[in-house]
Amino acid sequence: MATLKDFRNNIKPNWCPGCGDFSIQAAIQRAAANVGLEPENLAVVSGIGCSGRISGYINAYGFHGVHGRSLPIAQGVKMANRELTVLAAGGDGDGFAIGMGHTVHAIRRNIDITYIVMDNQIYGLTKGQTSPRSAEGFKTKSTPAGSIESALSPLEVALAAGATFIAQSFSSNLKQLTSLIEQGMNHKGFSFINVFSPCVTFNKVNTYDWFKENIVNLEETPDYDPSNRVMAMTKIMETGSMLTGLIYQNTAKTSYENHVPGFKEQGLANQNIQISEEEFNKL
Ligand code: SF4
Ligand code: MG
Repeated sequence: MATLKDFRNNIKPNWCPGCGDFSIQAAIQRAAANVGLEPENLAVVSGIGCSGRISGYINAYGFHGVHGRSLPIAQGVKMANRELTVLAAGGDGDGFAIGMGHTVHAIRRNIDITYIVMDNQIYGLTKGQTSPRSAEGFKTKSTPAGSIESALSPLEVALAAGATFIAQSFSSNLKQLTSLIEQGMNHKGFSFINVFSPCVTFNKVNTYDWFKENIVNLEETPDYDPSNRVMAMTKIMETGSMLTGLIYQNTAKTSYENHVPGFKEQGLANQNIQISEEEFNKL
C-alpha cells in the first residue's frame, strides 16, 4: 500500500519560503495515501498561478492547464477515466476570476472530482495585484487607493450553485486540511475545498496571524449540522465566510456520471469503456 512518500517526487517547489502552498501539497499527499490510493490512481490538474505548479510536485498523473481552465480538463479526465481519483487545484484568481464560469457550472454539474482553491486573496505570481478575494479597501499595485469592489464569498457562491460538498480550511491546520481532503475524495460528487493559504511575499494584510485571529473553526461550534443547507448559509454569512471545517455535505444527490444516458444502465458510471480503434472511427 502506498504511503505519503510514494506521492513525493524529486522536484523542489520554487514557492517562497513560508508560502501556505507547501502545506496544501503535503496535505494532498497525506490524504491520497490515507484513502488508499496508489500514485497511478490519482490525477492532479492545475491552472495558472503560483499554486498552479502543484501538479508538478506530486507523484501522480499531472496536467498543468491554462489560466482558469483546470476544471474543464479535470472533468474531462474524470469522464474519460472514471476509475481515477481526480483532483483540480488552483488559486483564487484562477478559480474565481477568469475561471469563475467553469467553477459555478462544475459545482452544479456535480462530477465526482475534488477542487482545491489555494486562496491567498491576491495575485502572487504576477507580483501582487488585487484578486476577487481581496477585501474592499485592499491596497496593491493595481488598486493603489484601495479596492473599490467587495470581496467574493466563494462559500456563498458554492452553496447557491448547488454544491454537494463544501469545506474550508487553513494551510496551518494540516490535520483538519488533510481530513477534509480525504472526505472530499471519498464524497461521491463534486467536492469544493477553499483553503486559506497566505502569500507571505505580497499579502501583508492576510497573514498567518490575521487568519488565526479571524477564523471560526466549526470543530469548536457545537450543534452545527453540515447536512442543513440553511444553517450552512446562515453560518457563512454570520462569520463573514471565515468558517473552517466541513460546512455542507449532501450525500443523497448522485454524481453526474450516474445520470449520463447509457452509463448507468450498463453499469459504466464508475468504470472505463475500452473501445477498439475501429469502433472509435465509426463514432
Ligand atoms: Fe507563495 Fe506568494 Fe511566493 Fe507565490 S508569491 S510562492 S503565493 S508566497
Ligand atoms: Mg491568489
